Amino acid sequence: MKKMMSFIILFALCTCLYKPVIHVSSSQLLSKRVIVLDPGHGGLDNGASVAGVNEDELNLKISFALKEELETRGATVYMTRTDDQDMTRRDYNYSKQDDMYLRALKVDEYQPDLFLSIHLNSSSSSAWGSQVFYYKKSEEGQRLASCIHDQMKTLTGTRKNISSSSFYILRATQSLGVLIECGFLSNANERGQLKNKAYHKKLASAISDGIEDYFHSFSAPF
Ligand SMILES: [Zn+2]
Repeated sequence: MKKMMSFIILFALCTCLYKPVIHVSSSQLLSKRVIVLDPGHGGLDNGASVAGVNEDELNLKISFALKEELETRGATVYMTRTDDQDMTRRDYNYSKQDDMYLRALKVDEYQPDLFLSIHLNSSSSSAWGSQVFYYKKSEEGQRLASCIHDQMKTLTGTRKNISSSSFYILRATQSLGVLIECGFLSNANERGQLKNKAYHKKLASAISDGIEDYFHSFSAPF
């Protein structure tokens, strides 16, 4: 009987002292997060086009790499487009206005935690570096932009800073989002990198790290 009692006491003690160790693997950090990716341009709108390299094609490839990376970290990811068409899916009478209107609607349709519009820049051949834009009236957007910028900086080495803007896709959407210019197609060196599949994966990884930082630092936990 004594033996029995001490066994029960020991068992009760062990139960009280036992604290489950929860291992959160890196693959779970974005679980329950819904993210929309918006590869800029498409269809009749190539976006920037330099030396035979079209922005819309690379935006799509980078977005696919990003989708894959975010999904391995547990996020649910939707895309505004998955092929070489704009939102109107017309191959005649291209209208930027129609495309952008439908794009903003589609982003909000998914009610995401956040969205990213993916673009490539073009200017003089000496300009280079990634840059992240947020809607000028969104403090949350500024925080998100800052987290993503800091991580991208370690990859792209950019000397640019985050910037406020009133781009339509940021202004017209209800959802939190930023627009990322991954680099300059007009810069020969950066163009070479931006065409490279391995570089798309590196971009995807840096952007995903920035998103994790954002959720970790600023967003309420589930
Ligand atoms: Zn663009």
